[in-house]
Amino acid sequence: MPWRVSKKSQNKLYYRLLSEFMLQQTQVKTVLPYFKNFVLNFPTLKSLSKSNEKKVLKLWEGLGYYRRARNLLATSKILVKKHEYKLPKTLVDIKKLPGIGDYTANALLAFIHNQPTIAIDGNVKRVFSRIINKNENKIDFNKLIEINKKSLFNTKRHSDFVEALMEFGALICKPKEPECLKCNIKSICKYFKSDKKFKKNKRTKPEEKNYNIFCYIDKTKGKIALTNKHNLGFLKKFYLPPIKEVESKNKVINWNYHSKFKNSISNKKLNINLYYKFSSKIPLQSQWFSLKENNEFIPSFTKKIFKQLSNIN
Ligand code: SF4
Repeated sequence: MPWRVSKKSQNKLYYRLLSEFMLQQTQVKTVLPYFKNFVLNFPTLKSLSKSNEKKVLKLWEGLGYYRRARNLLATSKILVKKHEYKLPKTLVDIKKLPGIGDYTANALLAFIHNQPTIAIDGNVKRVFSRIINKNENKIDFNKLIEINKKSLFNTKRHSDFVEALMEFGALICKPKEPECLKCNIKSICKYFKSDKKFKKNKRTKPEEKNYNIFCYIDKTKGKIALTNKHNLGFLKKFYLPPIKEVESKNKVINWNYHSKFKNSISNKKLNINLYYKFSSKIPLQSQWFSLKENNEFIPSFTKKIFKQLSNIN
C-alpha cells in the first residue's frame, strides 16, 4: 500500500491521515488511484493545508462522502498551525481534530506514535468474535481488549500489530469463508473448534425515502439552477436542484414530470421523482451551472441528475 511508508519518512503522518480518511466506508481498491492522484497534487501536509475546499473537493470527486474531504482539509490546517506538523499524543486530543472518531484516532495513535491500542473496525470485530465464538453485537470490545491487554500488547511493535490484525481479518479470517486450515491461531479459536458456531445477525435494510427534485433549466444557455441551501443533513453543502422529501409520489402542479430513479447515499435509499421547467429566471438562493462542463466540484448524485436530463428538448 502506498501509504505504508518507512517509519522514518517525513510523510508518514500525512500519508496515514489521508489514507485513513479515504478508507472510511470505502474499499482499498477504490481508494488506491485517488490516493496516488491526491499526493501527486498535494505532495505534503503543508501543501494540502495551504489549499482550498474547491481544489480538494475536485480531487475527491467520485469518491463520495465529501464531508471527509472537508474535514481532512480542516485537520491539515490545524496540524500545521497548532501542532507544528505533528499528531497530538493523546486519544482525547486526536479526537478533537475534525472528522476523526474513535477508530481513526486509535489507528493513528498506533501508526504514528506506536502506542498500545487497537483500532476496532469490522475486520477486528469479526476476528475477535470468532476467536471467542460469540455474536459481535453481544461483545463489549473495549472491555474485551482491556481484560486481555497484557497478552494483546505483549510487543513493542504496536503499529505493526494493528496493521497485522487488519490484514489478518481481510486475508485469513475473511467475512464469508475464513481460511481456518491455514490459520496460525486455530488452536485457540473457539469458532474453529466448536460444533455450534455463532450466527451473524442479518443486516438491517437501509432506510428508504421519497424525494421530489425540481430542475429549473435555462434552455438557451444549457444551464441548470443548483443550490446548496437545503435542509437535508446527509447532502449538506452539496449543490443540487431544489429537493423536497415527500411521503410518496404526490401530485405536483405547474411542473413537467421527467422520470424517476433510485440512488443510494450514506446508507440511505432514495427514490427520486424528477420534475423540470424551462426558465431563464434563477430561483432564490440558487446559482446557474452548466449542464455539460463545470470547473466547479459537482457531486456524482447531481451528475446523475444531469445525465437523466440529457434527453430534454
Ligand atoms: S481459525 Fe478460522 S475463524 Fe478462527 S481465527 Fe482463524 S481464520 Fe478466523
